[in-house]
Amino acid sequence: MPIFVEKKPDKLISEDGTRIDGRKPDELRPIEIKVGVLERADGSAYVKWGGNRILVAVYGPRAAHPRHQAIPHEALVRCRYDMAPFSPSTDRKKPGPDRRSIELSTVIEEALKPVIFKEMFGGTAIDIFVEVLRSDAGTRVAGITGASVALADAGIPIRGLVTGCSVGKVGDFIVLDPGHEEDMWGDGDMPVAFFMETGEITLLQADGQYTYDEFQRALKLAYNGCKQVYELQKRAIIEKYEKLKLEGETDE
Ligand code: UDP
Repeated sequence: MPIFVEKKPDKLISEDGTRIDGRKPDELRPIEIKVGVLERADGSAYVKWGGNRILVAVYGPRAAHPRHQAIPHEALVRCRYDMAPFSPSTDRKKPGPDRRSIELSTVIEEALKPVIFKEMFGGTAIDIFVEVLRSDAGTRVAGITGASVALADAGIPIRGLVTGCSVGKVGDFIVLDPGHEEDMWGDGDMPVAFFMETGEITLLQADGQYTYDEFQRALKLAYNGCKQVYELQKRAIIEKYEKLKLEGETDE
């Protein structure tokens, strides 16, 4: 079987801003969000984002185990991000948690916590599982985006949706939603998440170097990208409840 070895492309972006996958600098990859895909979870979502395929399941509020982790005055919010061994495009990933998945679990959890009315559910746990079935750069922001609608699907009281999107730097260009090659060989990657109701930032990480002006432009581009993703999140939730309504009408 041939082994596919990735090579750095000669050029990631042309002078006129055409990216390696043909997108413009401010263009997202194709995104599809489906809500309520797992019957046994309290809430769930499936996100197709470029080549990413991510399944999110939410359970709770339910009794917190182990009991000593329970917080009397608020719900314990726990996230587990996991990349399936077969999910990367090239190498197989060693199964199980590693430093990266532990970090991503924490940042996804921290990005979502501010919108959850935790104080209503003291002593309970809310568990969020983000399972990456196929990875193609930007899995943490796609995971946050999916987890946010899965929380809504679970009926967990939230202040509003959290929406994630990455921006990156490729040569002199600030680009929206870096793809795999741009993430790997570009000059910077900045995953951002917003609480869309207020525009507050709940996640901001960055690698690479940015001037003040580049940083400002990157943040603005991320927000504009999130606005488009936010519309898809809302539509996905509405679609699930419209389907339920139709099914209810047919049952009668
Ligand atoms: N990746 C991989 N193997 C790994 C970790 C990452 O193939 O063990 C790939 C995967 O496609 C991932 C991308 O590298 O989406 C970028 O990873 P990063 O750590 O920047 O997180 P992400 O952009 O997915 O949030």
